[in-house]
Amino acid sequence: MEPQLDPMKDDLPLMANTSHMLVKHYVLDLDVDFKSQVIEGFIVLFLETGSRYRRASSTGEEGCQSQFDETCKIRASEQGHVPVSNASACSSKMEYNDFAVCGKGEKDTSDKNGNHSNEEQASGISSSKNCCDIENHGNEDFLLVLDCCDLSVLKVEEVDVAAVSGIEKFTRSAKLTDVSKELANLRNQIVHELVTLPSDRWKEQLYYYTCCSQAPGCGELLFATGTWSLEIRKSGIRTPADFPHAIRIQYKTKPEGRSVTWTTDQSGRPCVYTMGSPINNRALFPCQEPPIALSTWQASVRTAASFVVLMSGENSAEPVQLQEGIMSWYYYVTMPMPASTFTIAVGCWQEVKQSFTPAVQTNNEFSLPCSQADFRWHEESCGHVEYPCRFQSPAARLQRVIPYRVFAPWCLMKCCEEHLLQLIPQCLSAAYTTLGTHPFSRLDVLIVPSNFSSLGMASPHIIFLSQSVLPGGRHLCGTRLCHEIAHAWFGLAIGARDWTEEWISEGFATFLEDVFWARAQQLSHDEEKAQQELKALLRWRRLRDEVQNSEEELQVLRPNKESTGEVSESGASIVKHGLKAEKIFMQVHYLKGYFLLRSLARRIGGASYLASLRKFVNKFHGQLVLSQDFLSMLLEDVPEQKESGLTVESIFTNWLDSSGIPKPLLEEGETWKESRLVQQVSGEVTKWIRTNQRIRKSGKKKRRQDEGTFQKLLPDQLVLLLEYLLEEKTLCPRTLQGLEKTYQLRDQDAEVRHRWCELVVKHKYVPAYGDVEKFLREDQAMGVYLYGELMVNEDAKQQELAYKCFAAAREQMDVSSAKVVAEMLF
Ligand SMILES: [Zn+2]
Repeated sequence: MEPQLDPMKDDLPLMANTSHMLVKHYVLDLDVDFKSQVIEGFIVLFLETGSRYRRASSTGEEGCQSQFDETCKIRASEQGHVPVSNASACSSKMEYNDFAVCGKGEKDTSDKNGNHSNEEQASGISSSKNCCDIENHGNEDFLLVLDCCDLSVLKVEEVDVAAVSGIEKFTRSAKLTDVSKELANLRNQIVHELVTLPSDRWKEQLYYYTCCSQAPGCGELLFATGTWSLEIRKSGIRTPADFPHAIRIQYKTKPEGRSVTWTTDQSGRPCVYTMGSPINNRALFPCQEPPIALSTWQASVRTAASFVVLMSGENSAEPVQLQEGIMSWYYYVTMPMPASTFTIAVGCWQEVKQSFTPAVQTNNEFSLPCSQADFRWHEESCGHVEYPCRFQSPAARLQRVIPYRVFAPWCLMKCCEEHLLQLIPQCLSAAYTTLGTHPFSRLDVLIVPSNFSSLGMASPHIIFLSQSVLPGGRHLCGTRLCHEIAHAWFGLAIGARDWTEEWISEGFATFLEDVFWARAQQLSHDEEKAQQELKALLRWRRLRDEVQNSEEELQVLRPNKESTGEVSESGASIVKHGLKAEKIFMQVHYLKGYFLLRSLARRIGGASYLASLRKFVNKFHGQLVLSQDFLSMLLEDVPEQKESGLTVESIFTNWLDSSGIPKPLLEEGETWKESRLVQQVSGEVTKWIRTNQRIRKSGKKKRRQDEGTFQKLLPDQLVLLLEYLLEEKTLCPRTLQGLEKTYQLRDQDAEVRHRWCELVVKHKYVPAYGDVEKFLREDQAMGVYLYGELMVNEDAKQQELAYKCFAAAREQMDVSSAKVVAEMLF
């Protein structure tokens, strides 16, 4: 299925040499063609010289960064094994493949994998086995390495930004001395001035980015593509400082590229979207993947007029007609973020609006107009690089609910109107009450196609939700929405500097999901506590199961331990297990992270803990963090905890650096069973077990009034009830029938139905096989493990069901899901 990828190798390489050059801004100009399933156009990269090369040319601010590089180098050489060797190992492998083709003197510039190159001879780059190590090959051309996969690169050229009219004002400070290098220097000087414009001139900056992106080319650059990267060089240019700082790449995506998925929505209309693949956006545009490369972007996307283009962008774009039947959509962001957070979705989606209006409120009245004058920048309070930050804008800081819209395929619009539309302002408002200023100016929520492999995904300005959260009441929809909204702060505004520390975003989002949801429901303190204890028990059970059934190595939250966040000299690194298919379905990181944050909250006390979270957000938004950044700040605030033995080191040892269930959690484990809501479930379970025994004794004689009176349960209680009943060896068909009838299980949310399906499969309850089939078809994000359960019973009917459902869904499934299911089935 994946000929280019070695299935044995699960590490994801991040190849870009960000220490040499950093992308500051991307301009994308793309056409989306559904007939050929190709996105085609160009991308212009505006670059700055990287931290390792900036010392000579620039002012003091980089001092600390170079110091960081120094320590990296020292530590790396002390340890003997250097991350750089990993990176170069895979880079050289790629290069040999690629240049072997060119070396044979073939005229065709694409090899059998469709990789492209315009290099005329192999010598230049292929001899530099270690592209990361420029300094050791001082007599060779500098190589710009971008992360890139499955793209057809057609042309790379330098952009003549000096030709843009009005650009002279950016050249005043240029010191032109050497006549021969004059023009190249001038161009780089212009780009430097442009990317470092103060943030109150962001509009002007965007305008000139657009102009520059359309400026004429001034010379093609040499390039070569491999499995994981695009390498660019300019003959005779040996340093990043002399390398062109504005380059334009003309390229096409491939239909099989894994950054976007081409599929149909629930109404059968074609669509394409970034589905959060482990390779992120590198099969959508060549980019610098390492999170350190924080950049802004703008994009113009053209497609047929029947489609809607949604994207990570501060503005809600209005389409502009270019020619008959073609619309253009323009989006931009001014807050620098990792390129991996860029998200796009193009489809025939409709905006869901309230059809019967309950006294129009929410949306517009909260979206206070933010003119430029509203932004006041106080450098002392924001720790990030300069950008028009919402935390500095009085109007933005008062906005409880940011403007939002909901998009869905036509056939699900009614469904969205029922709960989702009302839930969004409630959840946004709860988040604001908890954490303060929303980091992003607006929010689109899109119900993505049924092949989406998780329940939700958060990106700047856009949340993807699975259709699975829609049916069965407010609960699942609300909690999931809260989770994704929490990512605006944890995961997006504050990113992980080391991708392997994903617990920082997932742990926080899971913990805050409960906090937000309690507030959105306006629960009393006691109700909140009871619901959260029930949730903790459910998560504890899940964690226990996952820890038993997964590789130990994957259970560690800080796999790089003390070398976390380190990169090679070039900036390249490897994300351990980044490509492991099973990992997508694992929740260990969510769960352990959540339990750590919960345990800290219990020790520190709810109110002061939330105050610390707000402080953390104020201090670190717009920046990348490591685990210790949060933990040190938190413990600093509560000095008495240090005396009780709670230190950053003890938290590393107990929670973050070890596999299995954390020791402090083991000690706490059983206490949740005393919780009121859990007790209630236990009572009901006893009734059902008795009912089941009575039915078994009475044999074939059918007696009515088997079922006693059962209490109404919350969705999470139902989940627990069914899980407890799953531990029973035998349940009669009539008991199962009674369960379904009593709780209307078919109408419950997907979490409840999932447990119901497990019961059906376990007890071979044939009358409900239709429910299992429906679940596998409509709830693909959750159904993966149900396939496994259909196989283990070795029951012909069940296996047939599994094969049938997989055959129907396989083509639309994402690679990871399909791989995991195929392993269960064949
Ligand atoms: Zn700020």
